[in-house]
Amino acid sequence: DHFEKFKLSTPLRNGIADLGFEKPTPIQEEAFSMILSGKDMVGIAQTGTGKTFAYMLPILKELKFSQQIHPRILILVPTRELVVQVVERIEEFAKYINVRVLGVYGGVNINQHSAAAAEGADIVVATPGRLYDLAVSRSLQLKHIYKLVIDEVDVMLDLGFRPQLTSIFELLPERRQNIMFSATMTEDVEIMIDDFFIKPQKISI
Ligand code: AMP
Repeated sequence: DHFEKFKLSTPLRNGIADLGFEKPTPIQEEAFSMILSGKDMVGIAQTGTGKTFAYMLPILKELKFSQQIHPRILILVPTRELVVQVVERIEEFAKYINVRVLGVYGGVNINQHSAAAAEGADIVVATPGRLYDLAVSRSLQLKHIYKLVIDEVDVMLDLGFRPQLTSIFELLPERRQNIMFSATMTEDVEIMIDDFFIKPQKISI
């Protein structure tokens, strides 16, 4: 079992077995201990490299079940399609553990998302605009977030989400881990890292 070294709990190992994964991909190998170290991380990786599980494996290994209803993990992605895909992947992988995942995105009535948020979630997967709107309307509490993942940040910045990202950073606790993935290292991405990350470790696949 090539996933042995990650020392995952039996329910998570069973989740991986059900997905049919035989061994970690290179980015999963590299990101695992880095993410568990708690340091900020920037990964340059394309879609198809297994980047979603590169952050999900260590995050779910570490996440403790809690009765509190406030989210502790925030995953930001550029599009609605990606929100749906990431939520599905987490739910499939984590079906043997008790984790609540909420997906929110623009283009649908916000009341629907406010009601869903009120039920509580451990992990929120969101597009930046909708997340910001839910946070400022106090439908979603961000003060317990201790890990922030931003996936496809280059696409997000190209779509013009920089102001929303900046506003979200300001609402998050200062003590948190930032994890970012981008297909390319553009100037905009570098500016974002310089402004909000603390000595990020870098991985390039
Ligand atoms: P991603 O780059 O995160 O979009 O993942 C691309 C595809 O690779 C998805 O369909 C994943 O389910 C799959 N995948 C992720 N990790 C592994 C792995 N260790 N072994 C085989 N397939 C994987």
